[in-house]
Amino acid sequence: MNPTVAIVGAGPAGLAAAAALTARGVRDIAVFDRDDTVGGLPRYCGHLGFGWEYSHRLEKGSAFIRRLIGETDLSRAALYPRTTVLEMAPGPVLRVVGPETGLREIRPKAVLVATGVRERPRAARLVPGARPERGVLTTGALQQMETRGIPMPGPRAVVIGSEHVAFSVLLTARHCGLKIVAMAEPGNRVLSLAVARPIARVVFGVPVFLNTEIEEIQGRATVEAIVLRTPEGLRRIPCDCVIFSGSFVPDAPLSEEAGLAIDPRTGGPVIDQFMRTSQPGVFAAGNLLRPVESSGVAACEGARAGACIAAFLAGHLDGTQAASVFGLGEGVRYLVPQRWAMDAVDLRDARPLRPSLRVSSDMEAARVTLATDGAVVWQGRRRRLLRERRIAINLDALPSGRPAAPRVDLVA
Ligand SMILES: Cc1cc2nc3c(=O)[nH]c(=O)nc-3n(C[C@H](O)[C@H](O)[C@H](O)COP(=O)(O)OP(=O)(O)OC[C@H]3O[C@@H](n4cnc5c(N)ncnc54)[C@H](O)[C@@H]3O)c2cc1C
Repeated sequence: MNPTVAIVGAGPAGLAAAAALTARGVRDIAVFDRDDTVGGLPRYCGHLGFGWEYSHRLEKGSAFIRRLIGETDLSRAALYPRTTVLEMAPGPVLRVVGPETGLREIRPKAVLVATGVRERPRAARLVPGARPERGVLTTGALQQMETRGIPMPGPRAVVIGSEHVAFSVLLTARHCGLKIVAMAEPGNRVLSLAVARPIARVVFGVPVFLNTEIEEIQGRATVEAIVLRTPEGLRRIPCDCVIFSGSFVPDAPLSEEAGLAIDPRTGGPVIDQFMRTSQPGVFAAGNLLRPVESSGVAACEGARAGACIAAFLAGHLDGTQAASVFGLGEGVRYLVPQRWAMDAVDLRDARPLRPSLRVSSDMEAARVTLATDGAVVWQGRRRRLLRERRIAINLDALPSGRPAAPRVDLVA
């Protein structure tokens, strides 16, 4: 076994990359995933809401994964579930272990790292109170338990967090017999769409407490109650289960240990617009790049990375990362890609770049400017910039053909 391209992670990003590569005639692609089935996080999600940006359809997670596999020519790309990439080194060289591969070293011409995100466990969130053995979960763990038919810890649950994923738990709960009795958000607004709060209240009968922190979780063997510190005072809510949502970090240990440059702002590898990392021949895509975008965006990034890798293999794209680094003005939390190549490369039908730009804190009425060598080349007015929302920016407005100092600023 010596694949031309190795893809680490078979979530939406990795699978879409495999589809894009096979569509461009690339052979001998190996897609590795340490889990026992391929598909990444969506394969556990039985609710609608996946894949919009990629296919302009909203599908269940499992259906979206079937779509991506259906688009892949499996005579050119082999899927290896239960296969972990243990190490990656310059070359690139990978050490993999799995039932079909055994423990072996492979030397592909190109690698795509698409290892996604993980949710911070409770300990990492410094939650006070007892440490019940049963009943404290993350949303990802809940989805897995539902899919695998693992019995749920009791009927009553409280959800901590209010971004899209937290509200998706309301749908999952319906399938698995859980009754969500409350949601709590430390901030002063829900992080999903504003309409999610009234929907939770009216359709699901679930109150969403804002400006609310956890005072303590009570219980020994199992969770018995949670005490919330609300603006109105302490509120004890009897429950059997506490579900944490929304504290995602890139699953980057493999990338870090391989020595890829990591952006401290995102926690993921530094890439340029061609999805190239700091190591020649190693590309990255999907939520590994930053926590988090939707499955459709992750798949678009994967498809773009597939096109870039095909161009690299055909000799149209250099494997080495661009030199120009984006300067970021005050209030910009991060921008992905972090680097920009000024040379024009014809990527033939590649998915367009979808930059991830985020602000450090909410802002009203601001202008986003893109400049190079001191001259503004694009700007966009925004009525409201919310911390967790992706902000559209047109990086393609940057001129090609000469070195430059690209820069993004927020002007109040
Ligand atoms: C509970 C929940 C609900 C969600 N709901 C929605 C929704 O309604 N709509 C939506 O669009 N998005 C939703 N999302 C987000 C969506 O799941 C992600 O955007 C998407 O899965 C990201 O794709 P990815 O390929 O980057 O990563 P992942 O899907 O995380 O895939 C990464 C894969 O890499 C594998 N891997 C990691 N390290 C290794 C290694 N060393 N070796 C081998 N394999 C490895 C992992 O096993 C995993 O399968 C939800 C997420 C969660 C957690």
